[in-house]
Amino acid sequence: MIDRLRRRLVSGFACTAASAALLPCCLGRAVLAAGGSSRFSVRQIADGVFAFQGADELMTAANDGAICNLGAVVGADAVAVIDSGGSLIEAHALLAAIGKVTAKPVRFLVNTHMHPDHIFGNAAFREIGATIVGHRNLPRALDARGTFYLHNYREQLGEALMEGVEIVSPTMLVDDHLQLDLGGRMIELRAWKAAHTDNDLTVFDTATRTLFAGDLVFMGSLPTLDGSLLGWLRQMDVLAAIGAARVVPGHGPVTADWPQALAGERRYFEILARDIRKAIADGTPLREAVKTAGESERDNWHLFDDYNERNATAAFAELEWE
Ligand SMILES: [Zn+2]
Repeated sequence: MIDRLRRRLVSGFACTAASAALLPCCLGRAVLAAGGSSRFSVRQIADGVFAFQGADELMTAANDGAICNLGAVVGADAVAVIDSGGSLIEAHALLAAIGKVTAKPVRFLVNTHMHPDHIFGNAAFREIGATIVGHRNLPRALDARGTFYLHNYREQLGEALMEGVEIVSPTMLVDDHLQLDLGGRMIELRAWKAAHTDNDLTVFDTATRTLFAGDLVFMGSLPTLDGSLLGWLRQMDVLAAIGAARVVPGHGPVTADWPQALAGERRYFEILARDIRKAIADGTPLREAVKTAGESERDNWHLFDDYNERNATAAFAELEWE
């Protein structure tokens, strides 16, 4: 706590730390993260729709794991939040930021998929009694990966940021479609076939036609493949047909035009598939193929070196059996 306060002070969050000092210490931490830092403010992107834009980085202790976009839709009775962020600190900051724009209770948390940057803040929503909603495959995925995530990210992010982080599974599951009533406002949840992961869920606000695409849409940061390349490419046509006025991608700007926002990742995955198919046809071994596949896309993406080889490996394993 003290270390963290100090670190915040040092990194220029002086006014935040000062206001936190006036509060009981159990509250200090959440308010600390939520306070003066613009990183933790939500922006109104449409009537009653708010979004937080994550940093275009890997998760680190310095960015509080706050690397993915988060959202909130406010109805007459209740708020639905889309994704809980990469730490409990971020989740508390998000809740505090939402509390500044509405007094309505947060009744639902929708998880767009299993990745840590999207779900590590779930416990904060369980604490306030929100119903956590996810794809029917999400509990199974979290059972399989959760222990690994906690262990791995504790090493990567450090004990302080991981404090209180738990794997909390959804209790309301989406098989195919599900509507949530926020009071005079419906949001439509849709469960997808394997693409980014095998548990991708999108949220569509019918009132403003805002689509929260989760990691089915990446902009700027290289998309990461943890589901099915062919499935993702196939479902892009279905995704593109959604009559949205705007999209909030999982990573990238909030917001972007729809369906133009899909163009970059579609091109990347088509090139990756083309390069890998050629390598397989030429008999190039996997370890060599993954070093050059997708290379022509390098300059179009952030974090290319962090993820391209892994994507290529996954693509090779999938396309080998075509
Ligand atoms: Zn993801």
